Amino acid sequence: MLPYPNDVFFTNCFVTVDVNFLNCHIVSVNESKACDIMNGFDEEAVRKFRFSGKILRETREEMKHFVREDMLIIEICERAESLIREKGGKPAFPCNVSINEIAAHYTSPPDDKKRIPGKSVVKVDLGVHVDGYLTDTAVTICFNPEYKSLVETAEQALKVAINSIHPGISTSKLGPIIEKTIKSRGFKPISNLTGHQIGRYLVHAGTSIPNVSHISFFSKIKLGGIYAIEPFVTLPNAIGKVENGEEITIFSFLKRRSLENSYAKQLLKHIEKTFRTLPFAERWLQNVVPKKHYHEAFQELLSSKTLKGYPIFIEASRKPVAQAEHTIMIVEDGCTVLT
Ligand code: MN
Ligand code: MN
Repeated sequence: MLPYPNDVFFTNCFVTVDVNFLNCHIVSVNESKACDIMNGFDEEAVRKFRFSGKILRETREEMKHFVREDMLIIEICERAESLIREKGGKPAFPCNVSINEIAAHYTSPPDDKKRIPGKSVVKVDLGVHVDGYLTDTAVTICFNPEYKSLVETAEQALKVAINSIHPGISTSKLGPIIEKTIKSRGFKPISNLTGHQIGRYLVHAGTSIPNVSHISFFSKIKLGGIYAIEPFVTLPNAIGKVENGEEITIFSFLKRRSLENSYAKQLLKHIEKTFRTLPFAERWLQNVVPKKHYHEAFQELLSSKTLKGYPIFIEASRKPVAQAEHTIMIVEDGCTVLT
């Protein structure tokens, strides 16, 4: 995680590689004005963002119907990631399937035997990039009727934020809007998770979008900017914060170090070439080195701090968490939802 003041965590801090672009939507007049002004994003970039968003929207909608109680989590991750590739994108990070009190950052390790528990609250968080143009979206699938309203509240808070955002608005105004929506429905926002600006090959491009009012962020939302808004909602009697859990299933390249094991060197070479600094799952490293040498090689990359891990985020009082997320582009009169 990127260190941030006030104990604020980002989810999905990512950067990307590679190209795979098919032409997609026509840029509207509003968007064309927006990209005239936006920092370096030309019309082609906007088309790529739109294509990336279309892939992600379709994948998310298909996953809503795919996820079932008692299903293997690894089946969900692999399905989402192959849908993204089939549609012409690349996963910008491993498919996150975070259950109940786990707010974010769980993806299946290789041969994961875990299943979706009965009556659970399942967050599926997906990222795709097309030539580095990233979009990020999440949906909560709820198998417990008791938490239906929790999930709807996350969606409603996202909707209200999307309807309120426009060029020039301060992020310090958006936090209270999200918080008020959540509290008016009797729930609590997670105060130390935020939305974020998106750049090319960059999931966290500076500005954060808080989900509560007490955090003092005062950046202005920019015309032509790309942002992910992601309210996280929990129960009113929860602490309403996340903390790092023990488990780490998502990694990224951090820094080159001197390595002993030749298989570790080989594995690192593959990681740098394939993901650069983008997050990846161990599932994506199978068959790079002989199976019997893999574990030792990967452990050396971790212990030498060549790689960094992203621990799972757990709600501090172990209460269930719902999330809703869209990536948007700021246009003159508001925003376009890309996902
Ligand atoms: Mn996300
Ligand atoms: Mn995000």
